[in-house]
Amino acid sequence: MKIVDIRATTVTVPLQAPLRHANGCHWGRFVRTIVEVEADNGLIGLGEMGGGGESAEAVFRAMKGYLVGHDPARIEEMRFRIANPTASLYNNRTQVLAALEFACLDLIGQAWGVPVCEILGGRLRDHVPFASYCFFRYANPKTGVGEVRTIDQLLKYTHALKRSHGFTTHKLKAGVFHPDYELEVYKALAAEFPMDSLRFDPNGVWSTEQAIRFGQAIEGLRNDYLEDPVYGLHGMRRTREMVRVPLATNTVVVNFEQLSANVLNTAVDVILLDTTFWGGIRACVKAAGVCETFQLGVAVHSSGELGIQLASMLHMGAVLPNLSFAADAHYHHLVDDVIEGGPMQYVDGAIAVPSGPGLGVKLNRDKLAEYKELYARLGGYPYDQDPARPGWTPIVPNDRWADPFDARPVQIPY
Ligand SMILES: [Mg+2]
Repeated sequence: MKIVDIRATTVTVPLQAPLRHANGCHWGRFVRTIVEVEADNGLIGLGEMGGGGESAEAVFRAMKGYLVGHDPARIEEMRFRIANPTASLYNNRTQVLAALEFACLDLIGQAWGVPVCEILGGRLRDHVPFASYCFFRYANPKTGVGEVRTIDQLLKYTHALKRSHGFTTHKLKAGVFHPDYELEVYKALAAEFPMDSLRFDPNGVWSTEQAIRFGQAIEGLRNDYLEDPVYGLHGMRRTREMVRVPLATNTVVVNFEQLSANVLNTAVDVILLDTTFWGGIRACVKAAGVCETFQLGVAVHSSGELGIQLASMLHMGAVLPNLSFAADAHYHHLVDDVIEGGPMQYVDGAIAVPSGPGLGVKLNRDKLAEYKELYARLGGYPYDQDPARPGWTPIVPNDRWADPFDARPVQIPY
């Protein structure tokens, strides 16, 4: 098999409501780049990357110069050709490599007639469990509904997610409001769902002392872990010395150098593996092997996925023996997807690992055209800005919190 073409299409797919986070907001939609790698036998492998637009599409076009004529089964060769670690000082292509790796694995799986997880060592499970992943949200500007700001709103929303999807693990994305307020919210969540597991993620915006204060205050709860309370391995290590809750990260251990540093001088207990940030599914499987050896925990990180990336997460989740936590996905916040058959469904808090050859998902061309068109109309959005707080700059550690009593609706083009 030889690669004959690489195409990239930027799409934007609406969310049920804008999702607030420590650095700003997802302004009511995700922007993603859908990658198609075509082989000389007519097969098309699918990849996906976060963000998009003219520059992202141009990067993938440029990869044709490197990869046309290349055998998609030679994935290690591709890694060194386009993302050589020393050349990466000049061209940071880890995420590009990841999208192309998904597509090459998809091609190989289709050519061999097996799902990607069977290439990666074989599935250990048919379903991957997920967490509810609750956000503070602005109301949908079109409908006026969906706001999550108060404790009452969050509990109602979590109950609705649990009813419809069956989640028994709840993650709260935080770092938006003052930590004292968010502590109240998290304790209320724990009291409302005493049999469920919990995790909390303020995206690294606290001081180490604040992280210790919060961590100690939640010690009695059913915590899976406290995720990125502070930004940096040393702050995590200092927090870990003082807090009896496992710490997790998707920010300060995202490559093998950082993983080795964390093994030699442990700062983080649970490594959240992201198939994009690590440069592909195979890199994550390798990292999970290191974690297995040193008995660190692993879980699946979500960087905001459509169905192709979700498939990469499911195939990874299927083959990790040491996946002892529910995975994260933003997926259920989306209103639609670009894959055939519509969005994948949660049953009892889990999603079935696709069983078709390759990644097991196909593009719905009508949906791709529809959301390409929506991107052409709306363009990108500033992920690191809050639509309700123009001119606001979050600092690290942050002390410029949003006001939990501020109920103003936001105007966002939808
Ligand atoms: Mg995180």
